Amino acid sequence: MHSYLKSYQLFCPGPVNVHPEVERASVEFALCHREEEFSELLDHTRALALEVAGIKDVTSFSAVVVTGSGTAGNEAVLSSAVPRDGRVLVLANGEFGERLAHISAVYHPNTVTQRHEWGAPIDLARLEETLSEHRFDLVVMVHHETSTGFLNPAAEVGALCHRHQTRFFVDAVSSYSADLLDLEAAHVSYMTTSSGKAIGAYPGLALVIARRDAVDELKSYPVRNHYLNLARHFSFAEERSQTPNTPALPLILAFNRALELARDEGVEGRHARLDQLAEYVRAHLLSRGFELDQPRGPRSVVLTNVKLPSIISFEELRQSLRARGFVIYGGKGPLADQVFQISTISHVGLEEIDRFFESLDEVMKSYMISLEAL
Ligand SMILES: *Cc1c(COP(=O)(O)O)cnc(C)c1O
Repeated sequence: MHSYLKSYQLFCPGPVNVHPEVERASVEFALCHREEEFSELLDHTRALALEVAGIKDVTSFSAVVVTGSGTAGNEAVLSSAVPRDGRVLVLANGEFGERLAHISAVYHPNTVTQRHEWGAPIDLARLEETLSEHRFDLVVMVHHETSTGFLNPAAEVGALCHRHQTRFFVDAVSSYSADLLDLEAAHVSYMTTSSGKAIGAYPGLALVIARRDAVDELKSYPVRNHYLNLARHFSFAEERSQTPNTPALPLILAFNRALELARDEGVEGRHARLDQLAEYVRAHLLSRGFELDQPRGPRSVVLTNVKLPSIISFEELRQSLRARGFVIYGGKGPLADQVFQISTISHVGLEEIDRFFESLDEVMKSYMISLEAL
């Protein structure tokens, strides 16, 4: 048997193990994307996406599905939502903020990045000062910084953007449907997420949600690429209930079902359930003497960063858990070999978490460690 035919329990923050109904949805129907059935599906998916985002006035927002990973959604916004010679301000306090800065700089020489230490809070006073001194067309921030577990203050940053009449783009790729984000209250003009993270479908689709007036504005901006041009995506979606090019149809079927499940569960109920799972994991870890790597502020329910005990390298830990059927992620950048990540956004329950910890105990015992001494 090829090694790629093995199944794992995924405790990483995406990809995830999907709900059986999501899996079934992806193979159940044979559709052509230029037929009426697909248009009906796409309209349904776009409406569900707004509902799961918790938007109350759905007429003031619109959504498009772009075939590509989460980065495709981010690049679509960053390349499409800025006027000629526009100025972009990126707030970064981790790996994914840095990536946004990198994408922006590819398109806009006038990209300014306000860097913070990884896991440190966004400096709101410095932001306020910067916005008072210079005019920016777009302020960009990650909601849940997946590298550190930090939940950035979207409401506060959004209020500043609103006061300075600057559009606000939030990368909610890892937080959508898990951490609460009120797009209306936070004056968010653009939000992105992907199908393969907390929403619990397969990877390969990006979702972009935009405020109605921001969508209308897109047409007046320069076209900087073809495939990811957001004005084109919105005009196909809104005028014809279509995607501009061939969509990853089985992925849309799965994503649509995952959105239905999230809608049925309810935005707040889902958040509470994921919070409980994360707290369950944290209690397990603390009772074993592991130290959590806490961000210096609010944290996401999506994952927990755990300090790597000195007696084991991340690669040893990863391989040992893999051999027992579990996948975890390590730290990135300055956190490489400092932490490992445990996420419970997969289709997972307390039983699987208990089994994971039995395996973790085995691994740690085999490394002859007295956990009490940590
Ligand atoms: C995963 C992730 C992305 C996008 O990654 P892809 O590999 O392109 O799906 C972007 N931002 C954040 C915060 C993420 O967690």
